[in-house]
Amino acid sequence: MTETGSNGGCGTLYLVATPIGNLEDISQRALRILQEVDLVAAEDTRHSRKLFNHYGIGTPLTSYFQHNEAAKGQRIIEALRQGKSVALISDAGTPAISDPGCLLVQSCHEAGIPVSAIPGPSALIAALSIAGLSTERFAFEGFLPARTHARRQLLRSLQNEMRTLVFYEAPHRLAAALQDVRAELGEKRSVAVVRELTKVHEELFRGTAAEACAHFAGKVRGEIVLLIAPPKATAPEESVREALQRWREETDLPLSKIARKLAREYGLSGSEIYREGLALQDEEE
Ligand code: SAM
Repeated sequence: MTETGSNGGCGTLYLVATPIGNLEDISQRALRILQEVDLVAAEDTRHSRKLFNHYGIGTPLTSYFQHNEAAKGQRIIEALRQGKSVALISDAGTPAISDPGCLLVQSCHEAGIPVSAIPGPSALIAALSIAGLSTERFAFEGFLPARTHARRQLLRSLQNEMRTLVFYEAPHRLAAALQDVRAELGEKRSVAVVRELTKVHEELFRGTAAEACAHFAGKVRGEIVLLIAPPKATAPEESVREALQRWREETDLPLSKIARKLAREYGLSGSEIYREGLALQDEEE
């Protein structure tokens, strides 16, 4: 019997990691499982067909993506109950990691259907492994919020986090995200930006938040992992908010002047800092 044969009547759901760029980054076992299973559920069947064609895999593909997760999940569970084996893959990397899959895995556990991992690439681990920040303890935060207010709030809540932070980020939002990192966590906070892992234009940038802002100020392309080091214990960095608070406590300068001064220091817009100052005033009243 093959590894994918039915197990007590039920088939197994395999979560198979696929390449995050370079097609060679797939394990022998992953290729064999994709050949052997009865069905492969893929986030985007057109995208995955390229991988299948490259490796001569002819297993039937069905779509399983964010908006059909519930309905399609039930059909996949039914097939598994009937003894069919199913592999789940996403467009890139490990399924269920910022990708569809979690719901299906939970449903399988509830139904007593075996779930098995076929491990391989994941952008967060690959980025962390080369970024040169501490890997001893880290926190994966998925995608940063798209809206500035929510993003800044989240970053503020993480300003004293002592684990390395790992985020996925869209290229068109990277510059704004880095500006928010600089504003909330200080311009000297160490960051790493890992772009286009395993692809032709792979890039690893390491530096301070201020240096990253300057480096990624123009148009950015490709797929990105952003990593943020914990604050340095010896030299606590002052966020814009803390600087605003300190200037308001220590001087009689009007908020507009403080905002202009800090805007120059942090390389941010004066009106943004002014608004932050008003919000601070509101909170204090
Ligand atoms: N499940 C995937 C994994 O295990 O890495 C992640 C899927 S998530 C929808 C896609 C995000 O992962 C991208 O927006 C980017 O932040 C990151 N990513 C994927 N491939 C990447 C690559 N080759 N280089 C850098 N980041 C990548």
